[in-house]
Amino acid sequence: MRTSLVMEETNMNLEGTPLFKDIKAAKEVFWINPNKEVFEKAAEKSSISKMDIADADARLTRFASYLKIVFPDTAPTDGIIESPITEIPHMKAYLEEECKGTIEGKVWLKRDDLLPIAGTVKARGAIYEVLKHAEDLALEQGLLTSIEEDYAVFASDKFKTFFSNYKITVGTTGNLGISVGTVGAKLGFEVIVHMSVEAKQWKKNFLRSRGVVVIEHESDFTKAVTEGRQQSDLDPTSYFVDDEHSRELFLGYTVAGSRLKKQLSEKNILVDADHPLFVYLPCGIGGSPGGVTFGLKQIYGDNVHCFFAEPTHVPSMLVGLITGKYNEISVKDIGLDGLTVADGLAVPRTSGFVAKVLENFFSGSYTIDDNETYKLLTALIDQEEIYLEPAAIAGLPGSIRLLQSQAGQEYLKVNNLVDKMTNATHISWATGGSMVPKEDMDIFYKKGKKAE
Ligand SMILES: *Cc1c(COP(=O)(O)O)cnc(C)c1O
Repeated sequence: MRTSLVMEETNMNLEGTPLFKDIKAAKEVFWINPNKEVFEKAAEKSSISKMDIADADARLTRFASYLKIVFPDTAPTDGIIESPITEIPHMKAYLEEECKGTIEGKVWLKRDDLLPIAGTVKARGAIYEVLKHAEDLALEQGLLTSIEEDYAVFASDKFKTFFSNYKITVGTTGNLGISVGTVGAKLGFEVIVHMSVEAKQWKKNFLRSRGVVVIEHESDFTKAVTEGRQQSDLDPTSYFVDDEHSRELFLGYTVAGSRLKKQLSEKNILVDADHPLFVYLPCGIGGSPGGVTFGLKQIYGDNVHCFFAEPTHVPSMLVGLITGKYNEISVKDIGLDGLTVADGLAVPRTSGFVAKVLENFFSGSYTIDDNETYKLLTALIDQEEIYLEPAAIAGLPGSIRLLQSQAGQEYLKVNNLVDKMTNATHISWATGGSMVPKEDMDIFYKKGKKAE
């Protein structure tokens, strides 16, 4: 009943617009967010502040001495979970050739596929939230007397035994579960991961090998989360990492802003009114692109322009925002099937929390077809020898889509950016890939060859 009501209203409001027709027909679109405001104004209204981000940043620094001990791959960065940035000139040339256009400015990739511990963007938010929960418990129960202590104690048997009395539960398409499961199990928690139907077999195997309980669902992400949450709520020792509502997850992602600023300064990349920065972020439920955008806006204000990228069959943030229904509408309500090769983005209903926090901050979104995803995945391997998972590919064509679409050109005009584009920096956020098994990557690669 409810669903059909939503559908009728939706049709009444928007069916007539060509954009919405294209979205319903699963065509690639580029959309400018009309609710974006100048940074100062948007920040005034926001319930999350710079102070919250600084608090999250400080917490991750406190845990660095622990992470360095238990996850040796964080040793090179001294226990800080961070990834490099790489310029991708060959891929840029490929995109120009394919699209018969010019990309003004430089094109970079933010290599979250190389993040330590879990190799996806989720390592930012999810690990942060688990660490915050562990810290809260340890302080509450007096195991930790102050936040000034050396957090290396979290690696001790005493702490592990203590955490073994508690559970952490999460619902996921896969990658969130890997991050939560890996760090949760390492701390000593019992971790229960509810996997939606998209979740890849290797992700389930990986988690089970680390002692995580994996519960498989035949349903989509939204249902897996709902069931996980219900089961967790019945158990007072269980903490639920809630991808739909979590402020902590979001804050974990925001810390990327100041980290990226440092990296760009080290590479002498200027960002100011004459040197605009464009960032293209794959979007599932919205938490990771939302948090990263929020962090970047605090640093660069109106000089950074963030765009979200979604699969044509699962444009949940786009549909939530243009209908004004946020999480009250699923892509299935407008007749889309919600199926995509980009498993990390297979979220049919956006996060209402993130959509509302972000709607005055981000610049727009676009959608990408699965066939294009395969093609670009293969091209990136051929051009740059970089292996990304399908979800992480979504940000890759952002620069060319901005420059070639009518809506994108209009955005540049309205924002007075047209003559500044030769100074532009474009960053596509590569959200994951290094954990994909070779057999799976080979299959993707072959499909991309066929798609050419
Ligand atoms: C989860 C995920 C995303 C999107 O993050 P959301 O918080 O769901 O929007 C993008 N890429 C990969 C690889 C992911 O796992």
